[in-house]
Amino acid sequence: MDETLHILLEIQHIDQRLAELDVPDNVQQFEKLGFQWQPERRQQLIELRSKRASQLDPEVLAHYQGLKDRYGEAIVPIDGGICLGCFMMIPTAWVQNIRQNLSVKTCGHCGRILYWVG
Ligand SMILES: [Zn+2]
Repeated sequence: MDETLHILLEIQHIDQRLAELDVPDNVQQFEKLGFQWQPERRQQLIELRSKRASQLDPEVLAHYQGLKDRYGEAIVPIDGGICLGCFMMIPTAWVQNIRQNLSVKTCGHCGRILYWVG
């Protein structure tokens, strides 16, 4: 997989965890399941995110951030030739390109970053 795409997916994953932690009910739920909530975990995630972000081209990061602000989820999978962000068909030739996740490709309809789940 393309390194940039890999880092972007990791950042998105961290952002989703952080968003979950901002919902107090989720932390309560976590504790109800018998887990001990450690507040420093949140800080660890923030530090990991900034470490990963520093490995990216600032333009790529800004693009990701813009998509995240607009849609919530910046990077979405393709399934059956369909962008799972906007549910529009991606041209077949494009899908071939995306299939190996060798570069950062965006949906021609919504602009989200696409990745292939093998
Ligand atoms: Zn789309």
